[in-house]
Amino acid sequence: SNKQIKRMERLEAWKEMAKRLAHEVKNPLTPIRLSAERLLYAYTMNPDGFEDVLEKTSQIIINETKRLENLVNQFSQFARLPDPHIAIHNIKASAEEVFLLLKNAHPHVNMTMNVKESSLPWDIPYDQDQIKQVLINLIKNACEAARKENPAVTLTLERKATSVLITIADNGPGIPKEIQEKIFEPYFTTKNHGTGLGLAIAERIISEHHGYLWFETSEEGTHFFLELPAEEIREELDEA
Ligand code: ADP
Ligand code: MG
Repeated sequence: SNKQIKRMERLEAWKEMAKRLAHEVKNPLTPIRLSAERLLYAYTMNPDGFEDVLEKTSQIIINETKRLENLVNQFSQFARLPDPHIAIHNIKASAEEVFLLLKNAHPHVNMTMNVKESSLPWDIPYDQDQIKQVLINLIKNACEAARKENPAVTLTLERKATSVLITIADNGPGIPKEIQEKIFEPYFTTKNHGTGLGLAIAERIISEHHGYLWFETSEEGTHFFLELPAEEIREELDEA
């Protein structure tokens, strides 16, 4: 049945995540250990020349530890993803909340929010924590991608007849063609401290909400689109 298939897919996704986490955790462990050994060795051999080694080597430890922290944080995000708790919330209010949060976190980015007025309600069914998480992941990516000179990010909300369309636009360099197929894969990242889980988690949440997530990109920037149904979609009632 449908539900069983979904459960199996989720189990597979879990196994895959766990396997990859183990793999990803191993990578930073070696440089951390080597760096600590190098520090100890340098100090034992030559306490006077120690300072040269100290700065560079501790930076490696700090960087790699940060990467581990990010990985574990995002993995627990994934782990804390139960079936969505769908209830009626105001998507405009949720988006505004996330918008302000990220505006404070990225003061150098020119962030604007644009709500297209509509007579239809903004109250729609979704899991508030999960959809906020998706918005955070997408807006963060946009802020990180926005160009260095006059970085700009725009969040747009639009009420369609049967859905809400949210657009997150940045003025970054766009997503290179070679990687466009890969960006939703867990652990795919082009960033130094990236985890590569932001979009994978976003995609999973949106699919469980029966919504759509896609992007358009060019050298002028990238648009991520997120469409959520405005009416509750009933899971097919399935028996054996
Ligand atoms: P992370 O942000 O940790 O790298 P994500 O899953 O959020 O992981 O994103 C995966 C990759 O997709 C990023 O490393 C980046 O290469 C690409 N990407 C995502 N959003 C954008 C964007 N708005 N502009 C350009 N590239 C992007
Ligand atoms: Mg990200």
